[in-house]
Amino acid sequence: MPASLKKPRAVLVYSDEQSRLDMGPSHPLKPIRLRHAHDLMRASGLLSASNVREVPPQPASQQEIERYHTRGYVEAVKAVSRGEWSMEMGRYGFGMADNPPVPGIYEAAALAAGGCILACEMVTSGQADAAFAMAGGVHHHAMASRAAGFGVFNDAVIAIKGIADRGLRVAYVDIDCHHGDGVQAGFYDDPRVLTVSVHESGQYLFPGTGFVNETGHGSGEGYSVNVPLAPYTTDELWLRAFDAIIPPLVRAFKPDLLFCQLGIDTHYKDPITHMRLTTQGFADAVRRLKLLGDKCPKGWVAVGGGGYDMGAVARAWTMAFAVMAGFDLPERVPPGFKALNGLTTFADEPPPALDADTESQINAHTDRVIAAVKETVFPLFGLA
Ligand SMILES: [Zn+2]
Repeated sequence: MPASLKKPRAVLVYSDEQSRLDMGPSHPLKPIRLRHAHDLMRASGLLSASNVREVPPQPASQQEIERYHTRGYVEAVKAVSRGEWSMEMGRYGFGMADNPPVPGIYEAAALAAGGCILACEMVTSGQADAAFAMAGGVHHHAMASRAAGFGVFNDAVIAIKGIADRGLRVAYVDIDCHHGDGVQAGFYDDPRVLTVSVHESGQYLFPGTGFVNETGHGSGEGYSVNVPLAPYTTDELWLRAFDAIIPPLVRAFKPDLLFCQLGIDTHYKDPITHMRLTTQGFADAVRRLKLLGDKCPKGWVAVGGGGYDMGAVARAWTMAFAVMAGFDLPERVPPGFKALNGLTTFADEPPPALDADTESQINAHTDRVIAAVKETVFPLFGLA
C-alpha cells in the first residue's frame, strides 16, 4: 500500500465566523488569531493534503450546553449577548476585565462548543482518525454557572459529557499554561473521565488552582491529576515532566478517546504568562499526544486554548494540525502567508537564557513535582 494511503484521516473543524468576535481593543483574546492560523495552514499546503478535510461547525443546542451549565446561567449569557446588561450579570462572572459583556457572545460560545461536539462525532463515528476544533478549549475555565478567564461555555466538558454518557472512557490532557479548572470541576467526582492538566503553578498564575493534592472526589478520587510547573520552565523540563507522568497514566487508564487541549500560552513570547516553551517544544508535546491518541480505539480529538502571541498561535496550531495529519511542513513560513509580519521559520530561536541559579531552582522544582505526582496518584493506577 502506498504510504499516502496510510496517512491518518484528519479533520479541521473551523469557519471564519469563529474569528470575528470583538472582545474589545485591550482584551488579550483576539479571535482573529484563528484566521491567521487557518491562513498559515492553507499557505503551507496542509489543507489541500488528500487525507485532510475541513468541516464547518454548527452551534451547540441549548440542551447540549445544559449538559454542564445551569439554566439560569445559560439564560444570563443570552441576555448579555443581546446587550441587556445589569449588575446581576456580575454574579455570573461577567464584568469589565476577563469576561466583558460582548454582544454575540452566546452565539460564539455555542459555535465553539458545537465545533468540539462535531470533532468528537467525526472521530467516534470512524469518519476521521483525528480532529482539531481550533476555536475550542479557550473556554476551559468556564464553570457550571459562571463565566471565567475568557471562558463562557465549557466546550470540552459539554463534548466529553456527551461521549461519556455513551459509555466511552475519555482521557482529557490540557497543556495550556493555565490550570484547566473548569474541566476538572466538570468531572471531579466522575471516574469515567481522567483529567490531566500540566500548567504554570497556581501559586503564580490565574486561576490559582491545580495543585498536586487536587486528585478528585468520591468515586472520582485519583482521576484528576495536576502537574504545576514553575515560571520560566523550558521545553526540556516541561517535556521531562510530561514524559514521566502523562503516558504512563493515560495508558493505565485505557481511554476509548483522547481529548487534548492545546493552549500555546506556554510560549516564551506570550504576554500574559511566564513559561519559556518554543513552538518546537510544543510540537514535540503534540507528537507525544499523537502516539497516545493513535493507540485509543476511537482515536483522538484536539481543541485550541489560550495563546496570546499571534505569531506563536499561527505557527504552533499549524504545526499541531500537521502532526495530526502526518504532514511534513517546510522549515520556513511560506512567502504566501502575509497576515503577520516577521515570521521566518516555524521553529523558534532559543529563548534568552536565565542565570544558573534560577535554572537550577526550576530544575529542582520540576523533579519535586514529578515525585509528588508519582507518590500521590500513581499507586491508584497500579503504577510504581
Ligand atoms: Zn491559558
